[in-house]
Amino acid sequence: MAALPQNPIAAGTSSKASRADVRAEEKLLVKEASAGRLTEERRERVRQKITADIPWWYSPWGHLAATTGIGLTVLGVSSVQLGRLASTHSAHPTRATDWLIVPMVFLLANFFEWRVHKKVLHRRNKYIPPMQTIYDKHTPMHHMVYVEEDMALRSTKEFRLVLIPAAGVLGIVLTASPIAIAIGRLWSASAGWLFLVTASLYMVTYEVLHLCYHAPSDSFIGRLAFIKVMRAHHAKHHDPRFMQKWNFNVTVPLFDWVMGTIAPKTKRG
Ligand SMILES: [Zn+2]
Ligand SMILES: [Zn+2]
Repeated sequence: MAALPQNPIAAGTSSKASRADVRAEEKLLVKEASAGRLTEERRERVRQKITADIPWWYSPWGHLAATTGIGLTVLGVSSVQLGRLASTHSAHPTRATDWLIVPMVFLLANFFEWRVHKKVLHRRNKYIPPMQTIYDKHTPMHHMVYVEEDMALRSTKEFRLVLIPAAGVLGIVLTASPIAIAIGRLWSASAGWLFLVTASLYMVTYEVLHLCYHAPSDSFIGRLAFIKVMRAHHAKHHDPRFMQKWNFNVTVPLFDWVMGTIAPKTKRG
């Protein structure tokens, strides 16, 4: 493995140059890992560095409450609105056809999960900073700390390495809201609220399931049969040699199946 810059900031380089050095180091790390050369010792160093950089004010349960809380709030508000429309006194009652939006959103969300994971979380976008941040948190951090044989969080502090950033969840809500409004105008109010119910439920499910896959395998959650099966799917994706090839779905591996990206049992790259 080529020599890596150890501490560019201490070396007195400018912050722009240090950012470039850190980027070069990350690039090399990901390249080496993808080639199957991520050693235990190197992984441990990455983990130490990342966990040491977690700010003192970081609250793991606050983070989980924020991401799932935003999703559950949208889910709650949308369900109440839907309940009002479903009542017989409503001027625009929910029709049976409005429910068609539910499988449509599920399919779209599953495709979105697959596509964003493959194209944004595992490929650094040169031009769009929020996309770079998403990549940085995923490939050089999440994937360099957790590998197929060692998926478990060591402390709740490491929620920071697994959960979606709260700003990312807000971004999803801000993207979904105009779509819901458009569906409400063009289709029906009930379809618009059902869109939000399904999308928010999907997002909360993604967040909770991904955290469960990274729970210790001997914990109550880790021993649940469903979690064991789905953790195995996600764990294969955590083999650094295969992270850019297989098992991009986290909730239901539907689009992995449709797109032919389910890891073969033999696991030969
Ligand atoms: Zn993961
Ligand atoms: Zn990944």
